[in-house]
Amino acid sequence: MDVKLIDYAADPLAKLYGAYRTCYSADTPQHIWQKIRDASIAPERIREFIVARLETGHTSPLEQVVFWFAISGVSRALSHQLVRHRIGISFEQQSQRYVRFKEERLEFILPESWKRAGLESEFNETVARISSAYSKALAAGVPAEDARFVLPNAAPTNFQIMVNFAELQHIADLRLCVRAQWEIRKMVAAMRAEIKRAVPEIAPFVQPKCGERRQGYCDESLEDWQKCPLGRVRPHKSLLFELYRQHGSQALRALSDKEFEEVERLEKL
Ligand SMILES: Cc1cc2nc3c(=O)[nH]c(=O)nc-3n(C[C@H](O)[C@H](O)[C@H](O)COP(=O)(O)OP(=O)(O)OC[C@H]3O[C@@H](n4cnc5c(N)ncnc54)[C@H](O)[C@@H]3O)c2cc1C
Repeated sequence: MDVKLIDYAADPLAKLYGAYRTCYSADTPQHIWQKIRDASIAPERIREFIVARLETGHTSPLEQVVFWFAISGVSRALSHQLVRHRIGISFEQQSQRYVRFKEERLEFILPESWKRAGLESEFNETVARISSAYSKALAAGVPAEDARFVLPNAAPTNFQIMVNFAELQHIADLRLCVRAQWEIRKMVAAMRAEIKRAVPEIAPFVQPKCGERRQGYCDESLEDWQKCPLGRVRPHKSLLFELYRQHGSQALRALSDKEFEEVERLEKL
């Protein structure tokens, strides 16, 4: 697997500062950007302001920060999962219709678990048979779009993707969680490492959902939390409810129409 940050939209910190400041200032965005450009706001002030905003739930400015990644040598099992993300992300994926793979160039992705199970040769023999059938089909005039029907989830694929920072955070929420499949976790961890090199100020905000900068707690099943290696570091939601039950200012109860009526009465809606 190779994951490279190809590019990112210029001045991501300035973009974030401009977007957030426009929301919270009587100044026009033109004036705010003039201050950014003539450096009358210190870069340190910009960084501090952004980091403080990133701690809040105001996330739409993050959609104005965009990254491009080159991803290669991942499996079709991974790509099926990645393309389920449909908001704030665009994909271009290597075609199995237009690309006729050379038999010896089909480097299938072998999970470590097959090796650990002592089944590496079984895996290799199976994919070698598949490669051979695929090549025979092409040679016999079967079009690539039909020859590919024998290719397995282990077949390699490549992407160029464009993703905004809000969606990247959401993808990391789900895919850095140990509940996610290993290969997509590895890919998202590599994307995070690339962002850390390019824009270190915002990389700490790319975490699994239980991270202190995201939702903060685990909302998976209690059983999964107990099995998680981070389970001792981040709390499970049931523990938080239990603490509220013990120490909260009111008894915890389900929301009902009574609560909505109470809000309407208090706020004179
Ligand atoms: C551990 C794990 C196991 C999974 N197992 C399965 C499985 O067994 N089978 C399966 O089919 N999928 C599975 N998935 C995929 C999952 O169901 C989602 O399709 C995938 O994670 C994409 O996330 P998303 O829906 O948040 O999409 P994104 O595009 O990343 O969406 C971002 C957010 O935008 C909002 N949004 C997007 N589209 C809409 C919409 N149409 N209407 C309203 N709001 C919208 C939602 O809030 C969404 O969370 C699994 C995912 C994970 C992480």
